[in-house]
Amino acid sequence: IIRIENVSKQFGTLKALDGVTNQIQRGEVVVIIGPSGSGKSTLLRTLNGLETVSEGNVYIDGVNIVDTRVNINKLRSKVGMVFQHFNLFRHKTALDNIIMPQTVVLNRKRKEAEDVARKLLEKVGIPEKAGNYPDQLSGGQQQRVAIARSLAMHPKIMLFDEATSALDPETVGGVLQLMKDLATEGMTMVVVTHEMGFAREVADRVIFMDGGQILEEATPDEFFDRPKNSRTITFLSQIL
Ligand code: ATP
Ligand code: MG
Repeated sequence: IIRIENVSKQFGTLKALDGVTNQIQRGEVVVIIGPSGSGKSTLLRTLNGLETVSEGNVYIDGVNIVDTRVNINKLRSKVGMVFQHFNLFRHKTALDNIIMPQTVVLNRKRKEAEDVARKLLEKVGIPEKAGNYPDQLSGGQQQRVAIARSLAMHPKIMLFDEATSALDPETVGGVLQLMKDLATEGMTMVVVTHEMGFAREVADRVIFMDGGQILEEATPDEFFDRPKNSRTITFLSQIL
């Protein structure tokens, strides 16, 4: 469902991505790990058109999104993204945050969008918070709203960039469980995370990046128990 072909991204003289090639299958859960500055966020952002590439091609569902004629709204509804800092609209309630992109991007009628939004608030476990503004919600609850807002677009792929990194330790587990449920339902997911427990338990494949390159990829068991690349080994010894 995702095909990344020899993708490079240059910021001035810095190569944030350096010849990345990979394929992700429908329903697969891929976890990306690697040191700070290794290009993880840049790679995710290229997958939903938040970042242009300097070189290479990215196919989503067979469509080359590097092509300038690609409809960016259609792409963003197909590929949802959840960030570390939620990025909710502060002056809108939880419910309206989930309604708005549906009416703007998908042209859904308000009533239909509201029905979808209420169902999703139920799904993410906070139906009673529909009328709350973001600053009346805990970090974990805000992240649940952000996930619901993405799901409202019926994405085929969900990207998570350190979605639990800004949360209090006691709320991390609930959001990880929600992500795990999505994976179980068959969502195709690309997840950048420091949660090695999640990687081990939920990932079909773990990718290690450094210096804008993919240096190693393997099943979680292989990756954590028998890493091959020396930089992977060093990295794992620092975090585990
Ligand atoms: P972290 O774990 O800290 O989030 P990361 O692996 O997500 O790191 P990226 O955010 O992808 O790293 O950044 C890769 C490199 O590209 C870094 O050196 C970063 O400074 C650089 N970079 C990212 N975005 C930009 C930008 N808009 N302009 C210039 N340089 C950038
Ligand atoms: Mg990052």
